[in-house]
Amino acid sequence: MVIKLFNTMGRRKVVFRPLKDKKVGLYCCGPTVYDYPHIGNMKTYVNEDVLRRVLELNGYKVTHVMNVTDVGHLTSQADTGEDKVEMAARIKRTNAYEIARFFAEAFFKDCDLLNILRPTIIVKATDHISDMIEFIKKLEEKGYTYRIEGDGIYFDTSKFKAYGKLTGMNFKKLNKYLKAGARVDVVPGKKSITDFALWKFSPKDVKRQMEWDSPWGVGFPGWHIECSVMSMKYLGDTFDIHCGGVDHIPIHHSNEIAQSEAVTGKRFVKYWVHCEHVLVEGKKMSKSLGNYYTLKDVLDRGYTWREVRYLFISAHYRRQLNFTFEGLNAAKASVKRIIDFLKKLKQVEKGAGTKKFNSLLAKTKKEFLYAVNDDLNLPKALAIVFKFIAYVNKMIELRQLTGGDAEKAIKLILWFDNVLGLKLNDYLVEEVLPDEVRALIDSRERARQAKDFELADRIRETIREKYGIILEDTKDGTRWRRISR
Ligand SMILES: [Zn+2]
Repeated sequence: MVIKLFNTMGRRKVVFRPLKDKKVGLYCCGPTVYDYPHIGNMKTYVNEDVLRRVLELNGYKVTHVMNVTDVGHLTSQADTGEDKVEMAARIKRTNAYEIARFFAEAFFKDCDLLNILRPTIIVKATDHISDMIEFIKKLEEKGYTYRIEGDGIYFDTSKFKAYGKLTGMNFKKLNKYLKAGARVDVVPGKKSITDFALWKFSPKDVKRQMEWDSPWGVGFPGWHIECSVMSMKYLGDTFDIHCGGVDHIPIHHSNEIAQSEAVTGKRFVKYWVHCEHVLVEGKKMSKSLGNYYTLKDVLDRGYTWREVRYLFISAHYRRQLNFTFEGLNAAKASVKRIIDFLKKLKQVEKGAGTKKFNSLLAKTKKEFLYAVNDDLNLPKALAIVFKFIAYVNKMIELRQLTGGDAEKAIKLILWFDNVLGLKLNDYLVEEVLPDEVRALIDSRERARQAKDFELADRIRETIREKYGIILEDTKDGTRWRRISR
């Protein structure tokens, strides 16, 4: 079955045909590591994770590359302002490398929590400075660069004929659009508003922590050059899919295309896939509006990572997702429905599978695959999952489902989970308590019998903190459960 993707380049849904057999080169713009990611960032990464999972479900071998921007991303899109990582280091009075290390770790922790598959290759900008210098030298040789004294080396976008083709606007129109939207400030010395920095000189009055020698002077790379250089280094001059948020279309990705294609003369990327933003309670998320959430903020309110992930995948990636707690509650109910269904299936008495059920399984599987392959139509795919659940629940109620059928239904749900990524298998394996916890529970029981409740409480606290297991004393004895996150 073919996969269709909406290609931002050309703005239409097209059949996905990789450059090489069943191999896919996938590049996703990674985080700028100066702060904790917010839920809007994480929604994009979950969407991209679904894309990778769908490709893999279809038998493609995906090389997934992600950059970590630890230098060069300035507070303004116009190549002015402060480097975000250096700024965080200044405010927190610490080292810029330490800031980058800390927030990169925090980012990947959130990815792991949301069951986002780790990229095949993770690359840091600061590890590729010499590659970037070489790349800029090539642009210079080909006449695409100019120097702004005391500022940096710039890319002359007027020299790249197709500049801005990703936006669907021509050069003149895009210039007008950027001016009107004030997305880019005017920098003295820039020939066009669309021109961008390839190399920035270190400011004269401030000592930067991250700076390097270059043929043009001491400084640091621009943000856009990082993605061009690192994607091409690991995936080749032309590769299959480049992902990112929609905000990257007019500037960051347009600049990547200009630099890369100016150097190679070849097409940079075959398919551009862009994810829409998150609104919170219908508004743009911002710290000043008080509607700014990190993943931790949401989990601290008692929701689980599964519910957050479910909410993210339940909207189409090209639709704005309105994040509300009402929506999260609905996600919670949906996740519970799937889990309850699995538990019910496990209890169905033995018996051979039936032919009639096999055809239902085959039909449902095909429908699901068709939906996810149709530009990742997850809302449709989830509707198919729930239609299946409703139908089979009815069969269970009417005692029409055999044990063999139930086993196959479980398998199908787990097959769906290849794309959903909700770790549903966790609900099928009987959990065994680690020996040390078992011993602690026994000693707590002895303390309780000796009426040493203080010690019993301390042991209970230790078990919670160290092992993430909560004990509940019931009339039938002590029960335990894991804190679900
Ligand atoms: Zn990028």
